[in-house]
Amino acid sequence: MSIASQTDRPRGASARLTPKSFFARNGALSKAHPNYEHRPGQIDMAVAVAEALADRRHLIVEAGTGTGKTLAYLVPSILSGKRVIISTGTKALQEQLFFKDLPFLQSMFPEPIRACYMKGRQNYLCRQKLYDAEREPILTGMEERKEFQIIRDWEKVTKTGDRSELGEIPEGSSAWWKMDARSDNCSGQKCAQFERCFITEMHRQALASDIVVVNHHLFFADLAARDRAFGSILPDYEAVIFDEAHEIEDVAGQYFGLSVSNLQVHELVKDVAAVSRRKQFATPELDRSLIQLGDRCDEFFALFPHEVRQGFRNHKQFLHANDAVYSELQLALKTVSARLELVQNAVEDTLPLVRRAQLLQQGLRYWLETPDPANVYWVEARGRGVYLQATPIDVSKMLASRLFDRLETVVLTSATLAVAGEFDYLQKRLGVPNARTLSIESPYDYANQVLLYVPPHLPDPRQPEFSWRAADVIHEVLEASRGRAFVLFTSYQQMRQVYEMLKIRLDHPMMMQGEAPRTALLEKFRQTPGAVLFGTSSFWQGIDVQGEQLSCVIIDRLPFAVPSDPVIAARTEAIRQAGGNAFYEYQVPQAALALKQGFGRLIRGANDRGALVLLDNRITKLPYGRVFFDSLPPYRLTKKLEDIQNFFDA
Ligand code: SF4
Repeated sequence: MSIASQTDRPRGASARLTPKSFFARNGALSKAHPNYEHRPGQIDMAVAVAEALADRRHLIVEAGTGTGKTLAYLVPSILSGKRVIISTGTKALQEQLFFKDLPFLQSMFPEPIRACYMKGRQNYLCRQKLYDAEREPILTGMEERKEFQIIRDWEKVTKTGDRSELGEIPEGSSAWWKMDARSDNCSGQKCAQFERCFITEMHRQALASDIVVVNHHLFFADLAARDRAFGSILPDYEAVIFDEAHEIEDVAGQYFGLSVSNLQVHELVKDVAAVSRRKQFATPELDRSLIQLGDRCDEFFALFPHEVRQGFRNHKQFLHANDAVYSELQLALKTVSARLELVQNAVEDTLPLVRRAQLLQQGLRYWLETPDPANVYWVEARGRGVYLQATPIDVSKMLASRLFDRLETVVLTSATLAVAGEFDYLQKRLGVPNARTLSIESPYDYANQVLLYVPPHLPDPRQPEFSWRAADVIHEVLEASRGRAFVLFTSYQQMRQVYEMLKIRLDHPMMMQGEAPRTALLEKFRQTPGAVLFGTSSFWQGIDVQGEQLSCVIIDRLPFAVPSDPVIAARTEAIRQAGGNAFYEYQVPQAALALKQGFGRLIRGANDRGALVLLDNRITKLPYGRVFFDSLPPYRLTKKLEDIQNFFDA
């Protein structure tokens, strides 16, 4: 069975093209691409993807950096005549595919490629909210008013309503937040703007497209919603290709799980107050019940610890001790929703609000009253938010039944999928036992382009003296590399500590994650000669700095996931209980893939050259280090600092 409604539609003139002929030395690509290189790995991958689509089977491809994997999956997808969803790890990659790669391919295809991209609703403008804001005073402050003018002028000309066209509006814009198309307050077909709505248009485009480019978050939001009453977001499709597929276990876990927060309750209170004033159905009773809901919410969420991430197990005892506070919150939600249902002649405005109140009631009940042993329950405090989370311990069964068993073809690809040359870890974690697997080696000459330095004299990174001893080595390496480095840490605390130690000693321009948004920081790094950037996990992947500006990547320790993290702890415990060895089956493979990702930042082109430094010498001293080495490309290894100095002096 497939999530599909279409039949295969081989293209007319394009039907004569094959992936092999397209990528061949005298093929279409060689004639159109100014820097065409014949890459046998790219052809192998394209042929494998074409076969997977034709034979209706799943495929896992690890494609080393430089394979050209994007074209290797796009070309067979276009040629297949099927509707294929391409799911990427980030919106940036999504935009690159749609605005760069697909138009480039179009020039080589005789027929139009029917393609579109879809993002989450919060990326699009809600016309109705914009028109409402023109009439009613919902904007506060000069900044919001200025941004509103920009959005209002743009609305008249934009065809997509996608905020990425609006460079002038900052990431956390509160004006945008008041006008985006989140489903929260959307009245759907009852809305006066429905026919002109950007979301309606996005769905129309998707229905008319063969290639639909999404990101993992939207894909899994859709997959989780398919079995629910509110239905799907994406059109039916026959195949999906996941790029950056190493991320999908985490993303699937988020969407197959549940999250309820105090912020959701307060947003509901704010929205009901605003809509009731705008549509003139506010009453003293409704206002009172909103104040009560806000107060009950604060009382209830104050019962949870304000920790970063903490496991929650004692549902029964918690309910027993706090039944009154919990019941009052439920009652307050019910009261607001009942009062909204009584409002006459405004159902299109009240319905989405009633639905939200009911979903919050259900979410709280599900989280607190009926805990499922298949989930791990945890609480996270972030800023002013307290989030009650439930995450499936094992997503493999859900992925198997909702994705791999239902769909004819799923292609998983990334530069980091195999551990020590094997795909067992990924197949087990994702529930895809019957896939064809393929490893495409990077065309880069890692043995000559890269030197890996592991200082043998540093203490175990878990020892307190590690930070200052490591800072000395980082200093020496950065002197040799003349800056031009990423220094990546597994924790914020360690990053700040080492940054402070080096601030007074280093002459190179230094920047640290958190000082500016990630993209701005990265741009500054690219533009600043000899710069050194200190970062944590968000700089470990999806970052591309070609050339000499990034000549050195230093990593503080083997990136094992924090064992006390509630999700990691539940997953390791589940493996132990099933009789497995959690360290070798889960923690080591997971860390090996993360290290491969982090080191992968260095070499992004055939002419790149540089040093990798791992400050954690357990990799050379302990038996599991072998798994890491067997998972990495064949870098040249040294334990001597002079080799690093000579490497950069050469
Ligand atoms: S249909 Fe929904 S998202 Fe679209 S304009 Fe109307 S309220 Fe906004």
